[in-house]
Amino acid sequence: MTTAYIGLGSNLGNREDYINSALKMLAEVSDIEVARVSELIKTAPLSQAEQPEYLNAVVELRTTLSPEDLFETLVNIETALGRIRQKKWSSRTIDLDILLFGQEVIDSPRLTVPHPQMHLRSFVLKGLCRLNGDLPHPVIKESVNELANRLGGCDFVPNPDLPQLVSIAGVIGVGKTTLAKKLSKRLGCQMLPEPYDTNPFMPDVYAGKKELALDSQLYFLTSRVEQLNHNTLKTGQIYISDYIFDKELIYSSQTLTPEQLTLYEKVYQLSNRKVTLPVLVIYLTDLPQNCLERIHKRNRPYEQKIEQQFLEKLDAGYEQLFNNWKICPVIRKQTSELDYTDDANIDHLINQIKCYVMIADSGHVLVK
Ligand code: ATP
Ligand code: CA
Ligand code: CA
Repeated sequence: MTTAYIGLGSNLGNREDYINSALKMLAEVSDIEVARVSELIKTAPLSQAEQPEYLNAVVELRTTLSPEDLFETLVNIETALGRIRQKKWSSRTIDLDILLFGQEVIDSPRLTVPHPQMHLRSFVLKGLCRLNGDLPHPVIKESVNELANRLGGCDFVPNPDLPQLVSIAGVIGVGKTTLAKKLSKRLGCQMLPEPYDTNPFMPDVYAGKKELALDSQLYFLTSRVEQLNHNTLKTGQIYISDYIFDKELIYSSQTLTPEQLTLYEKVYQLSNRKVTLPVLVIYLTDLPQNCLERIHKRNRPYEQKIEQQFLEKLDAGYEQLFNNWKICPVIRKQTSELDYTDDANIDHLINQIKCYVMIADSGHVLVK
């Protein structure tokens, strides 16, 4: 007996009836035992086209069928319930996807298990969490609870036509650059480092010349717009940046006067349209005193005046940013838990990044 999880979806006709009929038909198959069903979840369609809202659910089965035979059974039920296959993601009476089949990993022309986009869909993960939040994803090797937390309630659709930017975020001294260097080396991709030592205004600002704070922030803003410009980065390529563009607003709100901030925000709104959005954020956190210790150790002269209180304010800014983040999945990691010198930790992170980015030759996940 294998425990399998099936995602059900409907957005045509009496959606609830279609879902209940599919469940009934599954229960009638002699080699399938329906164990538990999640509640119904209302979902906006993933496709860009105007479509009715979806109802989704997840069912836990026990079965002696092979994954291929289970898939065949699902297709037959879809056909019996009037599913017409048109173009991708067109409206349907019923859709039945194999999400998980035990801990098996299958990559055949007809079947990819785990479902290649389940970790990007809150409506799928919510259903799975209701049934068993500790369930591990056999490729990403994290629980479905953890995967759900990364999405902030959103559903994401991977887009191969964009640069695949992975941004590492977190306060000064948390360890972003060290991690970015390791990851870009291992992935063989370009790193986009924050130009921290070319800003001609920064030493003066850190030395207390507050009147230069706006100049300094504008310098950072323009250099980042250049670095992350749509035209500079290539589609389908992975990049790792050791900062997140949105940090500029967090820093500016700490360093600028209200009048300066109003002006800065106007320039920011005009410039951020040209900036490539990340497809994944790795958000590093640590206690402010640990970050301060690292800042003292690396001993960049102008940074030595940073006080713990400033780090705490930045920390609060980042927390607020990521509590409302709707741009991409966010992997949160406590630096203290992520020993970079242990290759197993880096391997695990690399393996996960590959599941969230769209790369042509990945051979697994996302590419259909
Ligand atoms: P999505 O898979 O993104 O949710 P969809 O369910 O609308 O989209 P379908 O048109 O139902 O897509 O299926 C497209 C193809 O996906 C099917 O022909 C099937 O062979 C393949 N497929 C691959 N892996 C799975 C899986 N785990 N469960 C169901 N179908 C799968
Ligand atoms: Ca589907
Ligand atoms: Ca399907």
